[in-house]
Amino acid sequence: MRIYRSKRFLQAYLKRLPLENKVGFVPTMGALHDGHLSLVKNAKNSCNTVVASIFVNPTQFDRKEDLDQYPSTLEADLKALQKAGCDVVFIPTVKEMYQNQIVSEDFDFDGLDQVMEGAHRKGHFAGVGTIVKRLFEIVKPHEAFFGEKDFQQLQIIKKMVDKEQIPIKIIGNPIYREADGLAMSSRNVRLTPAQRKAAPFIYQTLLKAQKLFKLHDIEEVEGFVVQSFKAQKLLELEYFSMADETTLLPINKKEKNKKYRGFIAVFAGPVRLIDNIELNF
Ligand code: AMP
Repeated sequence: MRIYRSKRFLQAYLKRLPLENKVGFVPTMGALHDGHLSLVKNAKNSCNTVVASIFVNPTQFDRKEDLDQYPSTLEADLKALQKAGCDVVFIPTVKEMYQNQIVSEDFDFDGLDQVMEGAHRKGHFAGVGTIVKRLFEIVKPHEAFFGEKDFQQLQIIKKMVDKEQIPIKIIGNPIYREADGLAMSSRNVRLTPAQRKAAPFIYQTLLKAQKLFKLHDIEEVEGFVVQSFKAQKLLELEYFSMADETTLLPINKKEKNKKYRGFIAVFAGPVRLIDNIELNF
């Protein structure tokens, strides 16, 4: 497995690959878990060369505490990437990606960034768009792999490549969970033992909401989720939104032939956890 810290050397290597070689790309912020590695394995299944990046992108963090406390496990990450079949790892510095201008570009995501994560984390998706676009320009993959854990991000990246006519196929991958249902996240290691024990409640509640959605009104499902979290001492609900999968806009009534999803964000102390689930009826 090759490791590059400089975009110039990475690009020089990628340019030497045969033209018919299909390149798959998995951008990450490191502190890798099996969810990340599933993306690498999926990429390896459909591409000849898999490039992963590890870069904690400062412009997508709205809270300094979250950025400062973001876990870093580089040595273990490299071992795990190699084992998963990754061919190339790109680990740039902030300077390499931003020079001395640590700011986001402006994007028009047709409103996809105005709800949920975008509404609660100011500037988050402009930061995500900026870094993903720059990484795409450097790696120029044929396919790029993103997790449905960050479903809104996945839709926003699809929108970006569509609007900017970037010739990369964006592939969504299912959410990987711990045995107790908690969605895998790099932030899970920051949970105290008590918070970790409480956290599977998030997915349990999503599963109940999914069941209720089949027979009940939107308001009733929402009321159920809000009430459920009131009884949880260690978990604070930030939002629960039932939205159209494509527009991400909240729904107030169900229509046939549309795909819906329930999206949730919860604080466990200072640690913010997100999850989502398909809703069909
Ligand atoms: P991150 O390092 O958190 O920026 O995540 C890098 C990529 O891994 C993103 O495309 C995430 O959606 C994806 N990812 C993170 N957690 C999971 C998970 N539990 N299951 C599947 N994909 C995930």
